[in-house]
Amino acid sequence: MESFDPASRIQKLRHFGEFGGVNPSITDSSTYTFLHGEDMFETFLGHMEGCFLYSRHWNPSNKYLADAIATMEDTESAWVTASGMAAITCALLQLCNTGDHIVTSVTTYGGTFAFLRNYLKKFQIEVSFVNISNLESVEAAIQPNTKVIYTESVTNPLLQVSNIPELAKITKKHQIKLMVDNTFTPMILSPAQLGADIVVYSMTKFINGKNDCVAGAICGTNQFIHELSNVNDGTAMLLGPVLDPLRSSSILKNLHTLHIRMRQHSMNAQYLAEKLQEIGVPVNYPGLKTHRDHKLHTEIMNIDYGYGGMLAIDFGTVKKANIVMQKMQDRDVGYLAVSLGYFKTLFSCSGTSTSSEVPEDIQKEIGLSEGLVRFSVGLDNDIKETFETIKAICMEEGLS
Ligand SMILES: *Cc1c(COP(=O)(O)O)cnc(C)c1O
Repeated sequence: MESFDPASRIQKLRHFGEFGGVNPSITDSSTYTFLHGEDMFETFLGHMEGCFLYSRHWNPSNKYLADAIATMEDTESAWVTASGMAAITCALLQLCNTGDHIVTSVTTYGGTFAFLRNYLKKFQIEVSFVNISNLESVEAAIQPNTKVIYTESVTNPLLQVSNIPELAKITKKHQIKLMVDNTFTPMILSPAQLGADIVVYSMTKFINGKNDCVAGAICGTNQFIHELSNVNDGTAMLLGPVLDPLRSSSILKNLHTLHIRMRQHSMNAQYLAEKLQEIGVPVNYPGLKTHRDHKLHTEIMNIDYGYGGMLAIDFGTVKKANIVMQKMQDRDVGYLAVSLGYFKTLFSCSGTSTSSEVPEDIQKEIGLSEGLVRFSVGLDNDIKETFETIKAICMEEGLS
């Protein structure tokens, strides 16, 4: 089988601006004119291709970006949203009605966990939290009212790799949907290629890569995207988390450098993980042969993009983690900040930040240690120097 190459697919896109500009023109109108009255009604009914009605529904700049993301994933269609959470919540609310049931990985992004655990109660949507690596327990959790299995391709912050092909077999067998958040691994993993029905992204992270905006995307079939944007009952249309077209146009430009950035993030993270492991620091990275899902990740990944920019180090206690993080910031390893996919290295203590929505007992149960620091490794040109700095701090703190 020829390997899937998302970067070349994006590179082949030919979008021109109104005056022959090399970038598509930015259309910042909220509403659109029609020459004929009938056309407006047909557009409302969703029967007019290529006609724009109102920017909350579709606008040309968002369409360019959505088409590019769908091309990257090789899904029929996509819709872009004002945040990653909007993508996740709209897609789930489109799939599930009151009385339905969701099976989800217990380790997910904190906001997703809070939505699944606390918010869906309002709609009496039931959720079962499972260890996504235990395929028997995943299948055993399926009920007659289950609509979807939800997971992250590489989970936050424990970097567990989901076996998407096996999960897809389970969802196909039970005629339910598999939805995958691929925020950590764009280009590296292509969930739709591996059998996922719906792929969601926080584009805030690697895809945009500049930490200058919040955005998301939902990829799926034409039918699903039409349902989401239907004027009568589409969740995305009616809840209205539309992305600003000025932002779409800037994200689209950044998408064209994503492959180079992903390679560099991966190369730097691989180097740091190997070196830190050598000096005895407890580091978790899917690119390490000792990582429990290393083999699985290797089997399902697209070649040439590496194992991603995310790694985690267990510093034992929150107190120790805070000391190390402050020192790393002072000595210019990167910034003590949440979020990821930035050109500078970012680090935060997961249990007390991005996973603080997960109650302590569940954190313990899933192995999220209080001193776990998640790193989003940056695009450092001299990663050796970065390593030497971290090594010196670890020695000072008696960690290696
Ligand atoms: C950040 C993040 C989200 C939420 O995205 P926003 O753009 O902040 O709304 C969802 N999933 C994962 C894995 C994330 O890292």
